[in-house]
Amino acid sequence: MTRTMVASPEAARSASLFAEAQRLMPGGVSSPVRAFKSVGGTPRFIVRGEGSRIVDADDNRYVDLVLSWGPLILGHAHPGVVASVAAAAALGTTFGAPTELELRLAERVIDAFPSIEMLRFVSSGTEAVMSAVRLARAATGRRAVLKFDGCYHGHADALLAAAGSGIATLGLPDSPGVPSSTVADTLVAPYNDLSAVEALFAARQDGIAAVLVEPVAGNMGVVLPKPGFLEGLRAITTRTGAILIFDEVMTGWRVHRRGAQGLFGITPDLTCLGKVLGGGLPAAAYGGRRNLMEQIAPSGPVYQAGTLSGNPLAMAAGIATLDILSNHGLWERADHWASRAADAMARAAAAAGTPLTVQRAGTMLTPFFTDSPVHDYAAAKATDRSAFNRFFHSMLDAGVYLPPSAFEAAFTSAAHGDPEFAVLEEALSHAFK
Ligand SMILES: *Cc1c(COP(=O)(O)O)cnc(C)c1O
Repeated sequence: MTRTMVASPEAARSASLFAEAQRLMPGGVSSPVRAFKSVGGTPRFIVRGEGSRIVDADDNRYVDLVLSWGPLILGHAHPGVVASVAAAAALGTTFGAPTELELRLAERVIDAFPSIEMLRFVSSGTEAVMSAVRLARAATGRRAVLKFDGCYHGHADALLAAAGSGIATLGLPDSPGVPSSTVADTLVAPYNDLSAVEALFAARQDGIAAVLVEPVAGNMGVVLPKPGFLEGLRAITTRTGAILIFDEVMTGWRVHRRGAQGLFGITPDLTCLGKVLGGGLPAAAYGGRRNLMEQIAPSGPVYQAGTLSGNPLAMAAGIATLDILSNHGLWERADHWASRAADAMARAAAAAGTPLTVQRAGTMLTPFFTDSPVHDYAAAKATDRSAFNRFFHSMLDAGVYLPPSAFEAAFTSAAHGDPEFAVLEEALSHAFK
């Protein structure tokens, strides 16, 4: 552990900024996992990004496999995205009034996600999911929401139960400040466990408003739905009149161009999007069938609003990102790189005799330190986290920036190519020793 307690000389400037940051902001960060708490060591302060790379305050360059936790599917500072954002900014950064850019992004979303007939833009995935749940409760007149252990849906109070941390007990809040009354109507089932879902439906006499799921889980590391799991959720919700909400904030444009619903051919009632949607600026959305979405104010009674919702810079970044991604066959590039990276990790681990199971869906992947497949959060938590932490630091020292947690997805971009792969392979050749 000594290495993780003492800043390496190459991180001196990051260490001094981090010390200052810890006086100014809780944990020195604007979002918890950035603080490197679970892996230890000094979080790198980032100065700039260039395509596949980031450069930190000590002038270290890294092949970036975090990509701002998913949004940057074209890599950093893509010239087309930067030009669109700059052009939009020159015309004014926000109006609090409708702009045509919202229509143009909405039409691209609807084109990619046929289950979405109408949508509402918001600024974060948290807001999107919170609002979709409100709509589902309003539309069904029921209170309960069923989610899955280890799935994260943003930090709204009602969804902070079993949200990818240690508390798996039914209906217990994950955070102080979340009253147990707030999560009393939040039911939690293990991921990939349809019989638990059936049992919760049977037990809840007043019905369940919505089943909320990451259709490929990314927030306990990448965990794929077993064959029949999503189909089963669709069948149960259809039978009971519950709303099926796919939280595709992470998976949208990541596991497939059309998200997990395109990959598996399942039509949810409501879909939440974010991350790639905003192309690196704050944009998210929820949408679905017209008869549901028309219940949102002002066309219906379900209130939801936002000062910066549909922000023109975010809309411009989203439009540019989706256009560039579709016009140049770049998605396949990011997908192919992820597949090569997963193979390379598995090969290097096997050569070193280290148990490793790399789980991947499209451009998202997680190396789990275990020799058996991970189908739920209990299995994810049973993996060897200290082995992950050693791996993380070895890769970081060798210039590969992975998510600083054993329970996160790594991401690839269309800017990742052969030079980045060479850095990865070199780093992997020492990482399991
Ligand atoms: C990131 C994420 C969210 C939350 O989005 P924010 O923009 O961070 O609020 C919600 N759901 C899923 C599946 C996510 O991956």
